[in-house]
Amino acid sequence: MAEKCRSPLNPKCGRTDVVAYIMFRGAKLPVCSKCWAEIAESDIEWGEEGSSKRERRRAHEPIMAKIRKEALEELATRALRKLKSSRDL
Ligand SMILES: [Zn+2]
Repeated sequence: MAEKCRSPLNPKCGRTDVVAYIMFRGAKLPVCSKCWAEIAESDIEWGEEGSSKRERRRAHEPIMAKIRKEALEELATRALRKLKSSRDL
């Protein structure tokens, strides 16, 4: 079974041309070539052995901000849908 891309920058990607794995919050995530290029371009430095804790935290900040934003958007979308359906009844 082919593994699907689970890039933290694009969790809904779903491509299966996985070229790399990244460690993110203790999980090993497969990343496709497209997302990998995106990650490489975004200048994010993934926490490697030997880098300081502060550097690691800084590297995760853009991703955490994006995940938080998406989570909020998802909640807002659900709330709106609920509101609409209750109004239509
Ligand atoms: Zn991808």
